[in-house]
Amino acid sequence: MSVETISVLGSTGSIGKSTVDILLRYPDKFKVRALTGNRNVSLLAEQAKKLSAELAVTADKNLYPELKKALEGTSVRVEAGADAVVAAAKEDADRTVAAIVGAAGLLPAMAVAERGKTLALANKETLVCAGEIVMKTVAERKTRLIPVDSEHSAIFQTLEERHRAAIDRILLTASGGPFREKDEAFMEKATPEQAVAHPNWNMGAKISVDSATMMNKGLEIIEACHLFRVPAEKIEVLVHPQSIVHSAVGYIDGSVLAHMGMPDMRTPIAYALGYPERIASPTKRLDFTAISGLTFSHPDEKRFPALRVAKEAFAAGQGAACVMNAANEIAVGAFLNKKIGFLDIVRAVEKIMERFGAPAVRTIGDVLALDAETRRAAEELIAK
Ligand code: NAD
Ligand code: MG
Repeated sequence: MSVETISVLGSTGSIGKSTVDILLRYPDKFKVRALTGNRNVSLLAEQAKKLSAELAVTADKNLYPELKKALEGTSVRVEAGADAVVAAAKEDADRTVAAIVGAAGLLPAMAVAERGKTLALANKETLVCAGEIVMKTVAERKTRLIPVDSEHSAIFQTLEERHRAAIDRILLTASGGPFREKDEAFMEKATPEQAVAHPNWNMGAKISVDSATMMNKGLEIIEACHLFRVPAEKIEVLVHPQSIVHSAVGYIDGSVLAHMGMPDMRTPIAYALGYPERIASPTKRLDFTAISGLTFSHPDEKRFPALRVAKEAFAAGQGAACVMNAANEIAVGAFLNKKIGFLDIVRAVEKIMERFGAPAVRTIGDVLALDAETRRAAEELIAK
């Protein structure tokens, strides 16, 4: 087994912790270069010690003294601030897991894409707000891009590149989230606690709320279009509450290649860490005799308008998708802070999208400026 250097951006989050869990099982395979986190510096310090990381970075400048103190007496270098996170992403590592949440992960992920090594991408917002630019950089720099999102890992594993012309559809599965069977009257009053209680997956707060509105699936349609160079019309979303089939690719001869497994992010993470090899994950094995049934249905876009909104944004262009993503991040934050109701999230996103339209974005600078402007407008709208 050859030794690889690895960095984990967002190591203290849900994906980050699962990544660290796998890395700790392979001390001879991975040499950890950088770990980055935000406010949870005690966990960051603990991870850096356990993995003998070279560098630990907190995105919060004010927490530098705390992180420095927690790592006193070790050889771990300590840095702080948003720029230091980007600098950590620029440091040479054979493989980098990008698991920061939201558009805050864009610049670090771009820095990795520009290095031309391997980018294991969990941060879907990066592709939603700047997919065209990121994918262009990936192609130019010959960066190996491996999706971590479970559905996209499933598609990556079942999409036969040599039969690309014979693909007739991509089946993107969705659990349907905690409100799959709830009506609008229930959702109007739904609390953050109810929204983050996902039936199958244990995830960060933002993506949990996105799963409840089904914006997560909307973001994933856009993510899939960029990753696999397929038109949105070829993507069929299927609500599959058991989360056993993680997605599938259908071919013109009628074959459907599906990826299955227990719902545990350590499986797609292990795939992204090992690729092109497979490495072990402690994920519970799938027991077919214990599955009482696998069900599939089309989503209800009336109760879950986020799916339609995301498709419209993607069709309108990169700027519209960036606006949608930024407005959604602000609205989800406001919902989590109990400033707006659950159904107000997508309402706010639509209002902001109407106002902004589809501005042209050509560079990462354009995307960042539009992202910031949208956030300000969304905050103002919500404060009213
Ligand atoms: P999380 O909230 O649990 O963790 C986010 C990480 O980003 C943390 O390490 C946090 O410290 C860091 N972070 C937050 N704000 C930051 C900032 N401004 N600057 C730098 N770092 C910051 O989120 P998560 O659930 O692990 O999700 C991470 C990404 O992976 C998201 O884009 C999400 O959509 C995607 N994803 C997650 C899952 C899952 O199961 N959790 C599945 C598929 C995709
Ligand atoms: Mg997913």
